[in-house]
Formats: sequence, C-alpha cells, structure tokens
Amino acid sequence: MLLTKDNYYSVEANREYLSVSQFKGFLPSYGGCEARSMAELAGEYTRPDKTAFDEGHYLHSWNEGTLAEFKAKNPDLYSSRGPTAGQLKSNFKHCDKMIATLESDELVMKVLAGQKEVIRTAELFGAQWKIMMDSYQPGIAFADLKAIKDMDDKFWNGQIYENFIDHYGYNLQMGIYAEVERRADGRDNWLLPHMVIVTKQDPPDKAIYYFAFAEIQAGLNIVENNIGRVLDVKSGRAAPVRCEKCDYCRATKKIKTIKHVSELSLY
Ligand SMILES: [Zn+2]
Repeated sequence: MLLTKDNYYSVEANREYLSVSQFKGFLPSYGGCEARSMAELAGEYTRPDKTAFDEGHYLHSWNEGTLAEFKAKNPDLYSSRGPTAGQLKSNFKHCDKMIATLESDELVMKVLAGQKEVIRTAELFGAQWKIMMDSYQPGIAFADLKAIKDMDDKFWNGQIYENFIDHYGYNLQMGIYAEVERRADGRDNWLLPHMVIVTKQDPPDKAIYYFAFAEIQAGLNIVENNIGRVLDVKSGRAAPVRCEKCDYCRATKKIKTIKHVSELSLY
C-alpha cells in the first residue's frame, strides 16, 4: 500500500503499518488499551471527542500552509448561532493566538522550515512503520509541532513524576522518527529531532527542544521492550486485554462479579 496524506490515517494504513500513536495505543502506560486498539483496527470503533484532534489539525494545517483550505472545508469550526454566528468558535480563535505566537518567533520559524508533512516508511523491530514528519530539512533536521496544556505539568506514573515529554511518549516518537527516517534515507547517522511546543495558555508559552543520540536510543529501547506483545496482539497470536477503564471498555463493559466494597482502589 502506497501511503499518501489522504490515506495515512486510514484503518487500512493502520493495519498494514505501525505508527507511533498506534503503538502507544496498545500500551496501558500511555493510556492505551489493547482491546480498544483491536476494535479500532477492525473498524468497529472510533474514539469520541474529535475537538482536540481538530485543534491539532488546525495548527498542523497552518504549519503545512493549507489553513485557508482547511477552514473552508470545515464549516463546523465556525459558530452557527447567537451573536457570534459566522465567527470562529472560541477554541479555534485561541488556536489563531497560538499560531501568532509561533509566527512571531524567528527561531521557531527557522526550525519549522523545510518540507511539510513528509511520509516515510521502514522496517524496524519486525514491523513496517509509518511516520509523518511535520517539518523536514533533509540531511539537516526534522521537527514536530505540539500543542500542550502547560509546559510545567507533571504526571504521576505510579512510581515517579514525569514531564510532558516522557508522559506523552514524545521521546519514543522522536526515537522512531529518527530511526525510520535514517533507514528510509539509507544513511548511518541520525538527524537530530526537534520539537516545537506551544501551550494552550493565554497568552501561549512556547519552547523548542532537541533530542540528542542518547534520547533517540532511549526512545528506541522503550519500543524494543514492548514491541513483542504489541505485534502478538495485532497479528491475532495473543488475545487483547481489556483495560476496563477507557472509553471503549466503558461502552462495552459487562459486569461479571459483584465486588466487596473494600476492593475499591484508591489509585
Ligand atoms: Zn480499554
């Protein structure tokens, strides 16, 4: 299957290729659920609440230079009634503010320069992977654009507090991107991944981070440690486990036992 921007996110493409988000979707440590992932791959389930996804789309279409087209194609970005009818909905107005923040920064625009939304594929850890780089400067670097709530947020993972990079698995993403790009291009060395972060705060904050070779290798190690189970489940060799917490499990849950009240867990 030849990947294009139109079919990149399709169920068919996800069946044939692993992506970073699909991989994380199998891992409970990233909020994933094997049962939900398999239902999605079977085309039996799509996740609710597209808003955050659409906000991400909005931002990425700006980076790609196709924001005007994206707005024209998506009338639901605009309020349809009341005194604000015809105006952008408030969350997308705020996206414009985030975009203005990025546009006004010279270094951000330098890092985000280059080819946009570039797809590459390669075999890695026994699977075909697909990546889409937000910005790509061949032979120099690539960059990913992320909108997050707050740069200083800390996340308890049951053992330690993690920063947003580790919590959302951006380390793993940059490792996979660096390795797939390297293999697809047939080189020995990695390009250094960059991440442009803009926050949803008002006014928005911004930062640029880069990942050196040690972080790329650490990200790849996380994948290597978990790929066996993911491929076993995806290929049907192992039965998917239900997390019983996610949107899919809640929507399809059947109670099988009555619990004693002391089984209610605090964490
Ligand atoms: Zn679940």
